[in-house]
Amino acid sequence: MQHHFYATSGFDRMAHFRDNDQEMENRFKDPTTLFVPVWNGRVFTSKDRTKPHFFTFEQWNKLGLKAPQLIYLGQTHRGNALAAVDISQIEELDPEDWFDDHISCVDLRGAGLSLSADDASIVAYAQTLLAWHKSTGFCGKCGSATLSRSAGHTRRCTGHTCETEHFPRINPAVIMLVEYKGRTLLASNPNFPEKLRSILAGFVEPGESLEQAVAREVWEEAGIEVDNIQYHSSQPWPFSSSIMLGFTATAKSSDLTIDQNELLEADWYNPAEIDKAVAEEELGLPRPDSIAGVILREWMAQNR
Ligand SMILES: [Zn+2]
Repeated sequence: MQHHFYATSGFDRMAHFRDNDQEMENRFKDPTTLFVPVWNGRVFTSKDRTKPHFFTFEQWNKLGLKAPQLIYLGQTHRGNALAAVDISQIEELDPEDWFDDHISCVDLRGAGLSLSADDASIVAYAQTLLAWHKSTGFCGKCGSATLSRSAGHTRRCTGHTCETEHFPRINPAVIMLVEYKGRTLLASNPNFPEKLRSILAGFVEPGESLEQAVAREVWEEAGIEVDNIQYHSSQPWPFSSSIMLGFTATAKSSDLTIDQNELLEADWYNPAEIDKAVAEEELGLPRPDSIAGVILREWMAQNR
């Protein structure tokens, strides 16, 4: 099984504990429990961004903040319980005042790559779950307030005739390397940094299979038909609460018709052309912690 960045097994989710209130309370106050703080979507690391910053219940109490809601993530292989805690109630956060001067409060996108894969997956998990709690305070069905249940893994509507159970939302997206006679399709879209080219991607729509989503997205964005659609691997992508479902596919022709609303440019490249363009700084490749980066580099290695 391929473990992408943000999806490692550096901890055990211990899902069977979540509905055991007594066990959860004990874990919460256990001096070995590690709290993973998130402030307005940002995570905490050492100054050099190589280690995440967790704190203990005692350190939490010293901060003098209102009692956190328990959001249990699981436990480390060393047996420390892990809990996510939102500290956005601090209005203006200067980590040096609130913690100490060895701590930074950073965007996960900026920190992800310098953390170990195990640590990055813990902070990404905390950040994604807390973002969902923030956006699910009210029931989408009846508008009543919702309350956290199962140690933060569901939210239940408080409307008496509703009581809908809400589960963390994950958005499925397909991402596909399309090949035609030893070349792959790389494209840029308006949201990319200049010179970045990547493989195509798009969200799965209701009522379609993953393979249909791959074929539709490639047709809509690049105007080409594909077959031989093969599943590759998947990666949780915390920045959009997505699960990226990776595929490879073979184009039936190389004649591109670009949808200018979706893509700025698209073209076919063989590995040597990619290497040359990267060396000449004409082309940037997707981040190595992304599934796009992994699938593309793997294809290049196999096709050199
Ligand atoms: Zn409701």
